Amino acid sequence: MKLYYDLHIHSALSPCGDNDMTPNNIVNMSIIKGLEVIAVADHNSAGNVRAAVEAAGDNILVIPAMEVTTSEEVHVLCFFPDVDSAEDMGRFIYSHLPDIKNRADIFGNQYYMNSEDEVTGEEEKLLISATDLSIYDVCAEAKKRGGIMVPAHIDKQSYSVLANLGFMPPDLPVSAVEITEKNREGMKTEYGKYTIITDSDAHYLENIAEPSHQLDILNKNPREFIKSLSKI
Ligand SMILES: [Zn+2]
Ligand SMILES: [Zn+2]
Repeated sequence: MKLYYDLHIHSALSPCGDNDMTPNNIVNMSIIKGLEVIAVADHNSAGNVRAAVEAAGDNILVIPAMEVTTSEEVHVLCFFPDVDSAEDMGRFIYSHLPDIKNRADIFGNQYYMNSEDEVTGEEEKLLISATDLSIYDVCAEAKKRGGIMVPAHIDKQSYSVLANLGFMPPDLPVSAVEITEKNREGMKTEYGKYTIITDSDAHYLENIAEPSHQLDILNKNPREFIKSLSKI
């Protein structure tokens, strides 16, 4: 089946994510837009993933995810087959983040929430720092947990594989890449051997994607979704 998706949405846990990006607001806005599968991918954390999955129930598929910053300062999306695996990766990533405190007045709040949109805590460590893990390390760690790594917004001028490494390392075992809407058409031939996904990278509710791109998956669950991204 072909499903409309947006696999790169930040919640209020990301300092740059608006405080209105609560689990229920994200889920409900995505349903209103006509999306069928979404991923809440916060910077270096899966701390609001469980709440989003619970808030969604059976109404929309939420893929457990996060957006990791590698030691090369490259952003990569990681998708997992279940919440436990994502949270396990989250704890691992957290231990590889530098001990820098968030300054909410500069970067914004980092709120943990439950499935009722109640704030259950605030993360003190700055989540947008780079980890000390290479892109190869992150790829391997995601795989170890049954997940998959997808380089994020590769066409962006910063925090991307192309901007920071200069090229797509041919020995990097990835099968899918994220390209922004603006450059999708222009780059789709050159990156034709990869599955190309295009997401909103929304930090505000109104920026969540319109239903314009679809992924073909066999069954509507995270495991099948990861399989579909693993195919070259
Ligand atoms: Zn990013
Ligand atoms: Zn992002």
